[in-house]
Amino acid sequence: MSFLEPDRYFSRLSHVDIDRDLLALGYHHVLLDVDNTILTRDTHEVPRDVGFWLAKARDAGLTFCLVSNNWHEGVYQLANRLSLPIVAKAVKPLPPAFLAAMRKIGAVRANTVVVGDQLVTDVMGAHFLGMKAYLLAPLVEQDLRHTLLLRNFERLVMGERQPENVGESVQTQEEGRFL
Ligand SMILES: [Mg+2]
Repeated sequence: MSFLEPDRYFSRLSHVDIDRDLLALGYHHVLLDVDNTILTRDTHEVPRDVGFWLAKARDAGLTFCLVSNNWHEGVYQLANRLSLPIVAKAVKPLPPAFLAAMRKIGAVRANTVVVGDQLVTDVMGAHFLGMKAYLLAPLVEQDLRHTLLLRNFERLVMGERQPENVGESVQTQEEGRFL
């Protein structure tokens, strides 16, 4: 598997099976991207299924730290509303923010996975540190211009690879907003 290829690929966060895809593999901590991973880029909302998945995962004992390259106030407000720690202005894929996030939640590389929607920030950043990376399809098509340019490159890397767990009953409704 190349450096840029994600270890796992899912269409959205709620398709990651909390027990089978995380806890059973020894992952008790998740470093979670924000934009287009849990928050839509267009309407700035957390979809209902994503919000409920987060609640369920935390009930199951997983801990999270948001790691975002975003530097706007809104990203801190979101962390506050979700009661999650955050490292913003992260400059992913560089390692310092991931390391700071793990320190915040008492995690180590071996029991932590990075989850996000971009190969060159989330996936490459995880792999720089020898960590596993789960890629999600972006929540919506809209994104920053430089991110959209990178999407073409991502399509090239991902080729025909299809997301996992599609067709399994999703734990909660995907429609509507959570936050
Ligand atoms: Mg993102």
